[in-house]
Amino acid sequence: METEVVIAGAGPVGMALSIALSNLGVANVVVERGAGVHPLPRAAVIDAELHQAFILHGLGDELAPLLTPIRAADYVDANGKVLVGGDVSGIRLFDDLPSASFHFQPEIDALFLRELRARGGGFMPETPFVGVEQSVDGVRLLLEDGRAVSGRWLVGCDGASSTIRRSVGIDHEDLGFEQDWLVVDTRIHDRAGSGLPDVARQICDPMRPVTMISCNRDVYRWEFQLQPGEDPKEMNQPGNVWSLLSPWVNPLMADIIRSASYRFHGLVATTFRAGNVFLAGDAAHQMPPFMGQGLNSGWRDAFNLAWKMRWVRDGLADDCLLDTYDPERIHHSRVTVERSIEAGQLIDQFAGRVSHGIKPGKAYGSGTARPRYEAGAVVGDHPRTGTVYDKWHLIGGDASALTHMTVVSSNRGVPALPARGLWRSVALSSADSLGADHVVVRPDGFIAAVCDDASVDAMLRELCSRMCV
Ligand SMILES: Cc1cc2nc3c(=O)[nH]c(=O)nc-3n(C[C@H](O)[C@H](O)[C@H](O)COP(=O)(O)OP(=O)(O)OC[C@H]3O[C@@H](n4cnc5c(N)ncnc54)[C@H](O)[C@@H]3O)c2cc1C
Repeated sequence: METEVVIAGAGPVGMALSIALSNLGVANVVVERGAGVHPLPRAAVIDAELHQAFILHGLGDELAPLLTPIRAADYVDANGKVLVGGDVSGIRLFDDLPSASFHFQPEIDALFLRELRARGGGFMPETPFVGVEQSVDGVRLLLEDGRAVSGRWLVGCDGASSTIRRSVGIDHEDLGFEQDWLVVDTRIHDRAGSGLPDVARQICDPMRPVTMISCNRDVYRWEFQLQPGEDPKEMNQPGNVWSLLSPWVNPLMADIIRSASYRFHGLVATTFRAGNVFLAGDAAHQMPPFMGQGLNSGWRDAFNLAWKMRWVRDGLADDCLLDTYDPERIHHSRVTVERSIEAGQLIDQFAGRVSHGIKPGKAYGSGTARPRYEAGAVVGDHPRTGTVYDKWHLIGGDASALTHMTVVSSNRGVPALPARGLWRSVALSSADSLGADHVVVRPDGFIAAVCDDASVDAMLRELCSRMCV
């Protein structure tokens, strides 16, 4: 079998990449060892940034009923006294979307699989792969049954123990975090009458830190930090799980959907590209879940890569545009992993167990700014360059937003657009263009440049050079 992009793994990242590529007219095939999607929940949160990306990719109506907006996020002591955080319902990246929403991952995965097929992506279930071979102009995904799937590029979206990563010899940087936690998802019979708070909460109890998250609708999650000497298997026995849950729920009030012990890591691949092979999602980075960023980071990888593949496929940019994936996503993921680790260390610190010297402002719910792209397809040192454009929804009304670089200009005039590549001009008010004359927004919603009239021509030339255009 032959396609343009071979996607190894049909987790939420591989499926999102397939949908994005199909929307951009890039043929792709997703190869998966399972019969369908994973039936149990893992990730629970989608950020506004990714929510907006899926809306622009045409999934807004289907996603809306599957999401519950986050209301509050905090760290509390063992007695429930709030240490940091609180109501986050007023925090907005985009005017009309909550800063984050809870979902039940199997519902998202089922939606993605339907959409993957509907938009023309190929899907090969029950097809384990064992490795990858590269030549100058393409890749071959080697299947367990001796066949192969060929393509120009391959993206390894095959999760934490990635066969693809090992096959191309990419190593991990270990950022030094390792903790065992027991994660328990429950379905609450009477959610409204349960008295359980609508919150993402870290309970900094010196005896045992606990995370509690009011997930989507009637689903509620608890995560219990396992203590030295506790055997994860033993702790996962039903009697022990119900005993841990007993301060909040009992078997008359809730069913257990799944309970599993996980070792939380902080790992980032040393490169996200090896020739025509790319890594995305957990294959590229793994982080403790305290900031809810694991899957969001994987979706960021997918949207970063999709438009660049389209540009290179169509000769709108040279292959080295794809080299910008690595510095952009490695740096962003690394900072995200570091912050997720700090958010976890802060729990132990607040509990008085150990001091990591971390400031309370590192906690979630405290409004810490997101990392930004500092190298790659960005130019200039404006503080908003390399961050997500918060008026993306205003320029996303037609399909060209997903393919074109958009030069947003306040009413003072429109610059000459570069001849190569796909570029378009949009006029917005000065307030909507960050108070600048021009803001250049990429197809993945990130700001490539912020400039005034005097510098715009030079900035666009430099940007083109960095984009290999
Ligand atoms: C307890 C827990 C809580 C989490 N909470 C959050 C959260 O709140 N928010 C968040 O953003 N993230 C969270 N995460 C992280 C999130 O679950 C992962 O980041 C996400 O599932 C990764 O998606 P993926 O598509 O990269 O990989 P996966 O979901 O692991 O998918 C990989 C796919 O590749 C397939 N595959 C692998 N090897 C092969 C092979 N050899 N042949 C064929 N197919 C193969 C697998 O079957 C699988 O379908 C959490 C994780 C855990 C463990």
